[in-house]
Amino acid sequence: MLTCKEFLQEMTDFLDESVDGELKQKIQVHIAQCPNCFVILDTTKRTIQVYKGLEAQPIPADVHNRLMAALDRKLAAGAGGSSGAQA
Ligand SMILES: [Zn+2]
Repeated sequence: MLTCKEFLQEMTDFLDESVDGELKQKIQVHIAQCPNCFVILDTTKRTIQVYKGLEAQPIPADVHNRLMAALDRKLAAGAGGSSGAQA
C-alpha cells in the first residue's frame, strides 16, 4: 500500500490524469482507507475547480454591483470614523 508521503508526491499527477493505471489504483485504494489524504485530495481538487471556474465565468453584474456597494459602505464608514485601530 502507498504511504501518505508517496500519495502526496503522486497527487498532482493523479489530478492531471498523468499516472498509469496501476498507480492510479494504488492512489484510489489509499484515499479509500486514509481519511486525511482523502480530504487533502478533495480540497486540492475543489481549489483547482474554483480556479478553472473563475477563468471560465466572469462575475455576474449584480454580484459585482453588490460587491462595489458593500465596499463603498465600508470605505465610507472607515473614512470618518476611528483611526483604524482594530488590532
Ligand atoms: Zn494517507
